[in-house]
Amino acid sequence: NTPLHELDPDVAAAVDAELHRQQSTLEMIASENFAPVAVMEAQGTVLTNKYAEGYPGRRYYGGCEHVDVTEQIAIDRIKELFGAEYANVQPHSGASANQAALFAIAQPGDTILGLDLAHGGHLTHGMRLNFSGKQFNVVAYHVDDAGLVDMAEVERLAKENSPKVIIAGWSAYPRHLDFAEFRRIADEVGAKLWVDMAHFAGLVAAGLHPNPVPYADVVTSTTHKTLGGPRGGVILARDKEFAKKLNSAVFPGFQGGPLEHVIAAKAVSFKVAASEEFKERQQRTLDGARILAERLVRDDAKAVGVDVLSGGTDVHLVLVDLRNSELDGQQAEDRLHEVGITVNRNAIPNDPRPPMVTSGLRIGTPALATRGFQEDDFREVADIIAEALKPGFDADALKARVTALADKHPLYPGLK
Ligand code: PLP
Repeated sequence: NTPLHELDPDVAAAVDAELHRQQSTLEMIASENFAPVAVMEAQGTVLTNKYAEGYPGRRYYGGCEHVDVTEQIAIDRIKELFGAEYANVQPHSGASANQAALFAIAQPGDTILGLDLAHGGHLTHGMRLNFSGKQFNVVAYHVDDAGLVDMAEVERLAKENSPKVIIAGWSAYPRHLDFAEFRRIADEVGAKLWVDMAHFAGLVAAGLHPNPVPYADVVTSTTHKTLGGPRGGVILARDKEFAKKLNSAVFPGFQGGPLEHVIAAKAVSFKVAASEEFKERQQRTLDGARILAERLVRDDAKAVGVDVLSGGTDVHLVLVDLRNSELDGQQAEDRLHEVGITVNRNAIPNDPRPPMVTSGLRIGTPALATRGFQEDDFREVADIIAEALKPGFDADALKARVTALADKHPLYPGLK
């Protein structure tokens, strides 16, 4: 029973340093969030010791009576949250959920139609080096000159290529997708519709974003982005048509024993996601992103070549366009890091710079909203970012403003 700090001071020191980093800087990576203490508590329990291959009530191991309870709670809560008749809470990650979902509704060699990675899609939607790109015949659709998904192209490519699966979902896109239109096109060509709501699931849960569940054959998500839970994945479906195939794709198809400690933590986070407090937080997430977009297209920012893709945002992130800036994505990311703001550089559609450098930034507000940021705080963050991207910026002064915001909204005050 030796505590971590005594048993392994090296690992403990790195964990402490990471806590300090999260507390003292502003986290604006759009795919990140801060899990509640109760979620981390559930994840740090003896449930990590338990083997439970199978599903609640149908396990291949004895002694599963308690993990059956937590896993069933997680399933029931997430079904209720999104209006789904089917849920699988076992995928270890978003990528694992996507792999199982795709293999449940298509065969290797089939054609799939997804958003190009360079236009905001995810690796698992058909990137060349990913399982999806290696084992499936990938056709990609794109965004148009206004930065919006080109639905006319989706329809044309669907008719020309008769894909088995059409994928609607993104990792870097600031607007809503038209799920009804995707459904119509899928029906027209006899394709299945898979929606990957990994990024925007929290907004859906709060009723602040259209829900894809009624439209799609299968919906996948991560649990750790806007949804604010532990790192992991889930698969949902509006009905039970693919239930057997989906369950057997997860186990025994791709996974062995489920991470029951993580599943318990997922259950806790789904309870939080059904609360009024969560809804209010998601509203602040959206307000923060809107404020950021508005303030980054002001004249003084435009004068130094900073712009915002699609002219704004409907979701929790903003895509900054640096094609006309003297800074590339890497330099801009480094500058923000220097003042204590963490973001990631991101390729923008038709990016003239190479993928390791890019001409864009992806900036998200979920983690700061979780921290308690209000509209005036987001205005201040936006102004700090705009200043940091100008020539001759004063790093020390901006860092002091970042520290003041971090101090105003303490993160995990009980943890040391
Ligand atoms: N799907 C989308 C749309 C994502 O953005 C991501 C993560 O960035 C994933 C799936 C994969 O999630 P994970 O990193 O948990 O495998």
